[in-house]
Amino acid sequence: MTQCIFCQIVNKELPASVVYEDDLCLVFMDIFPIKPGHTLVIPKSHGAFLHELDDKVREHLFIVATAVLQAQRSAGIAKDGANLLVNDGKAANQHVPHVHVHILPRDQGDIGKVAWTFLTRMLNFFGKDKKKVKLDALAKDIRQHLPSTIMK
Ligand code: AMP
Ligand code: ZN
Repeated sequence: MTQCIFCQIVNKELPASVVYEDDLCLVFMDIFPIKPGHTLVIPKSHGAFLHELDDKVREHLFIVATAVLQAQRSAGIAKDGANLLVNDGKAANQHVPHVHVHILPRDQGDIGKVAWTFLTRMLNFFGKDKKKVKLDALAKDIRQHLPSTIMK
């Protein structure tokens, strides 16, 4: 079994609240969301750094990330704005060494709340099952709003 937790999610060895998947990428809800709707887009192939991916895969990741962002907007989750973020390497705050694009919905004036949750989010290990139900529901909502361009 691979040590990489995102590869384990790709291989269905670990559970995730999946929004979308195709041959090249997988989209699922962040388990410690900084904001409701915090989503991750990952390549199915392993690589810690963006430059390690094939150009085709890297391009596809951002096409899918943009579609997820559109879906979040239509669902009213990221109506004010969003951060798309890649922490490229450990020194850049990357904790899981498998490329992932964070999609972080933002609301006007939420910086204090975002900063606080960023610092404290991993302390909350309780209510895991309840949390999973919520994340599954959000994943379903986003999936239902995905533009037809990426849905097969
Ligand atoms: P980074 O700090 O950029 O490497 O982000 C890694 C992200 O992965 C964090 O936001 C974590 O909350 C998230 N994460 C870690 N383990 C899991 C998991 N099993 N399922 C979903 N998200 C995860
Ligand atoms: Zn991996």
